[in-house]
Amino acid sequence: MTISVDGSDNEKYEGRENHTSSNADENHFDVVIIGSGPAGYTASIYTSRAKLKTIVISGSLPGGQLMTTTEVENYPGFPHGIDGPELMTFMQQQSERFGTAMLIDEVTRVDFKSRPFRIFTGSSSYTSDSVLISTGATPRKLGIESEQEFSGKGLSYCATCDGPFFKNQDIVVVGGGDTALEEATFLTKFGKTVKVVHRRDNLRASKILQERAFENPKIEFIWNSSIVNVKGDKKVSAVVVRDLNTTEEKNLEAGGVFVAIGHEPNTSIFKGQVDLDERGYVKVQNGTRTNIDGVFAAGDVHDFKYRQAITAAGFGCMAALDIEKWLSEKRTN
Ligand code: NAP
Repeated sequence: MTISVDGSDNEKYEGRENHTSSNADENHFDVVIIGSGPAGYTASIYTSRAKLKTIVISGSLPGGQLMTTTEVENYPGFPHGIDGPELMTFMQQQSERFGTAMLIDEVTRVDFKSRPFRIFTGSSSYTSDSVLISTGATPRKLGIESEQEFSGKGLSYCATCDGPFFKNQDIVVVGGGDTALEEATFLTKFGKTVKVVHRRDNLRASKILQERAFENPKIEFIWNSSIVNVKGDKKVSAVVVRDLNTTEEKNLEAGGVFVAIGHEPNTSIFKGQVDLDERGYVKVQNGTRTNIDGVFAAGDVHDFKYRQAITAAGFGCMAALDIEKWLSEKRTN
């Protein structure tokens, strides 16, 4: 049964007959999942199917990073590719089929020090025996005006996802870290040329990735420079690069721009509630467990290495199995 919750006080969670929660409070759940990317939706499919009363609090824009992707070609099961938003709608529908409640709202505060855990949105609060943090990460933006306009139209934040769309084109990569060089090297498989624009004359990336990039005849570096504008008619055709020493600007023809200047995990509401690493990623141990018993994490919010839809979905599945086991152990003890 489909359940949709809009956050209003008198909304009812239909379909709860599917679930076995012993707590009669309407706003109490076995599992609260915060975040609605592939990790959160996958976890909810598993926990709802296991008859745990589950709610996904999706944020104000459900679906996560894939909502800004056009075609996804590397998610298994779709031999001809699938639009990112369509894939996320399918995941949501699959989860609702098993009785997951969906709430389009932002979590503003959590309290993991009390039991049951408490989760607050702008207008309501919820309690839960377990929580999954799957709020993902946000790619750092260049912060220029044309960025939003060309996002998904030649400007991308993920070479693995979008590289194959740029066969025989001139490509620009922005950044000087491991991701930028790894992506630049990967993009040489497709692009005619790859120009790496970096704001300094020194790379942050590891030596081995630097050597590999320097040796690659398709890669050229543009040092001490930043991108100040992206141009094109409907899709990217050029970028304007500014030399940061001379302030001179020049036009570079490019069919694609890959921004690889890092990610920010979406964890500000969890500060002081679970252990985060120095960059703000949730620390996990033994699979998907955080340092708080009963609070789990899955996807880009803890995984800064793989960051793929399919790996996030995999972590979501792992988290759901960890949660099921944890709840069942707690309830039999
Ligand atoms: P990162 O290490 O934070 O590097 C970001 C790069 O973007 C830096 O070169 C930085 O310049 C530049 N940058 C940041 N903000 C910018 C802005 N506003 N405009 C222009 N340039 C900007 O991020 P990452 O490369 O995504 O790597 C993240 C973590 O994952 C790192 O720990 C990395 O080692 C790891 N990682 C490892 C591998 C691997 O081992 N194969 C692959 C990918 C990532 P500055 O250098 O001037 O600060």
